Amino acid sequence: MSMIDLRSDTLTQPGEEMLEAMVTARVGDDNFAEDGPTNDLEAFCADMFGMEAAVFMTSGTLSNQIALRLHTRPGDEVVTDESYHLNTYESAPSADLAGIAINPVRTPDGILRPEDVDDAFDRKCRDERYSQPVLVSMENTINYRSGKVVPLAALTRMYEYAQETGRAVHLDGARLVNAAVATQTSLRDYGAVADTVSLCLAKGLGAPFGSILAGSQQHMRLARYYRKSYGAALHQSGFLAAAALYALEHNVERLADDHANAATLADLLHAHPLLEFDRDEVQSNIVIVDITRTGRTADDIVRHLAAEGVLSVATSRHHVRFVTRLGIDSSDVHVAAKTVIHLLDSLPIFYIPTDGDRLG
Ligand SMILES: *Cc1c(COP(=O)(O)O)cnc(C)c1O
Repeated sequence: MSMIDLRSDTLTQPGEEMLEAMVTARVGDDNFAEDGPTNDLEAFCADMFGMEAAVFMTSGTLSNQIALRLHTRPGDEVVTDESYHLNTYESAPSADLAGIAINPVRTPDGILRPEDVDDAFDRKCRDERYSQPVLVSMENTINYRSGKVVPLAALTRMYEYAQETGRAVHLDGARLVNAAVATQTSLRDYGAVADTVSLCLAKGLGAPFGSILAGSQQHMRLARYYRKSYGAALHQSGFLAAAALYALEHNVERLADDHANAATLADLLHAHPLLEFDRDEVQSNIVIVDITRTGRTADDIVRHLAAEGVLSVATSRHHVRFVTRLGIDSSDVHVAAKTVIHLLDSLPIFYIPTDGDRLG
């Protein structure tokens, strides 16, 4: 059976031309700043974000973790939305590696605002004997909000507020290019409203590897220090940088196709009475559905779908995620939607939960 794999946008395979760019890369040792494609990629990304400098990182997680090291000292507090990757996947690593405490805010719509940071501040005793929030960490697009885009105006307000209150802003832009394409916003405009910004090259962009962290010259010098400390400084990284450069030059506009396919999937699934989700949050390449009404766990639904040829992931006990990407076309999402609907219509329903049974 041929599978329709909607688990993640990290599953893309490099095409012929990307592979050609990789094998013909003229590499050197990045330890001596002599790897041409890596230097080119970092210069390209710094310019793209309007930042002074950029550093090629092994993963989005490393970009976030090093950003924490740049903006905080052990014992500091970082405010972020509860749903953001920094909290959902990186809260314990952040305590381990940066020694910081995350103060997560549960916002109604996933958009962290200055008022939320004030509230997180005011909820604790803040006299000078106690820890202070020194960093606000944003995310765009928001993975756990079905790829919702944070409006540039909200990021601008947060940045101005942070500057007034003497805090730094990190923007986890793992899928920032999706946000840029979805809203016709330039990456430079996003770069202007953060002290550091990260971008995953191995998600929608379709490169096999890596992430970029951009910021000031001084911050990026320190970022190179931490990258080396963590054992994540590579030598002939040009083979991988060449793939990332190819992706940035060729795979940006096509993200609009992924967004159109996710919108189709969302429209087809939204009509089903056993699925609940806010259709308006599907603004890029992710569709997350709440399957509580099926009376099954998300793991159970994911297993059943896999048996029918559609791969998805359980992002909580009650949520199943589908992601569109390079290699998934419009007919794939139609078949996937049909498969989901057929499964739901054929499942015996154990109970119809009331509102009280549902988790947030
Ligand atoms: C995927 C992701 C990351 C981490 O990227 P990895 O390369 O998998 O470490 C960070 N933040 C967000 C929002 C992500 O979606």
